[in-house]
Amino acid sequence: MKLTNPDKLMYPGTSITKAHLVSYYAAVADRMLRHLRHRPLSLVRDTDGDLSKTFFQKHRLPGMSEAIRSGQLQKMSGKDSKILWIEDLAGLVAGVQMNALEFHVWGSDRHAPDLPERMVFDIDPDEELSFAEVKQAAFDIRDILGAIGLKSWPLVSGGKGVHVVVPLVPEADWDEVKSFCQDFAELLAKTDPSSFVANMSKARRKGRMFLDYLRNGQGSTAICPWSTRARSGGTVAVPVSWEELQDLDRANGFDVFAAADRAQGQDAWEGYFDAGQVLTEAMQRVVKR
Ligand code: ATP
Ligand code: MN
Ligand code: MN
Repeated sequence: MKLTNPDKLMYPGTSITKAHLVSYYAAVADRMLRHLRHRPLSLVRDTDGDLSKTFFQKHRLPGMSEAIRSGQLQKMSGKDSKILWIEDLAGLVAGVQMNALEFHVWGSDRHAPDLPERMVFDIDPDEELSFAEVKQAAFDIRDILGAIGLKSWPLVSGGKGVHVVVPLVPEADWDEVKSFCQDFAELLAKTDPSSFVANMSKARRKGRMFLDYLRNGQGSTAICPWSTRARSGGTVAVPVSWEELQDLDRANGFDVFAAADRAQGQDAWEGYFDAGQVLTEAMQRVVKR
């Protein structure tokens, strides 16, 4: 694959070039592709190189590299069944070549698009909240999920928040998973109304966190672990362990260089792909009040 403009600066105020991004994705590909491969994909592309005009792309455009695959979803009926996906490092490099700074994925595999393989609890804090409060929320969510019988793993988004991610054996369908997440968010907002809202409105969020359950519908996406972000500093969405999260002071503390180093070390999400957990009817009943 030919990389045009390898020395192009991708993030204002940093030294991060297009060539650096290719090296970055080469360094994290093994870890990242486990979350990315064969998932319906949306790209966030930067048009002008200064992060001020970005756009979401989820369909093929003329001239796009074949390394970013496109096709039709098998199972899903109705609209939006044309998708993009990536299978390998060449796909990631093709993304970089077209100034894609973010890779967002569905929670299901394109071969079984009706059955999610993960849930994401996206903690979106009001701007005035400290990261300590975001972390506390993540730990609370972990503990409640744990009490229900679900293990979870934390992702610092590379932006403002934390995603608490729950891998699932693909058995429950999107309706069940989405209802569970919504019920969970509403229960939390009712139990701890000084910290949480289950309503998207920014005005109502004042001093609190929105537990964004909307990531969990069919066709919704969340940032893929190890994806770079289209935000200043060239930060990355990074999997961390619960122990590490305790000591972090921000969700955007890893840039591409720090994240590439991390990917050579121990996997902070050990056990994630072997969790073997199913969203049961009993779990769904616990959060439904
Ligand atoms: P932060 O921690 O700063 O909130 P984030 O990745 O969680 O970072 P959100 O704005 O909460 O960002 O969005 C959560 C997810 O929702 C995104 O990762 C993305 O996949 C999806 N999303 C957000 N905005 C759009 C959009 N305009 N079109 C499609 N998907 C979107
Ligand atoms: Mn968020
Ligand atoms: Mn959100």
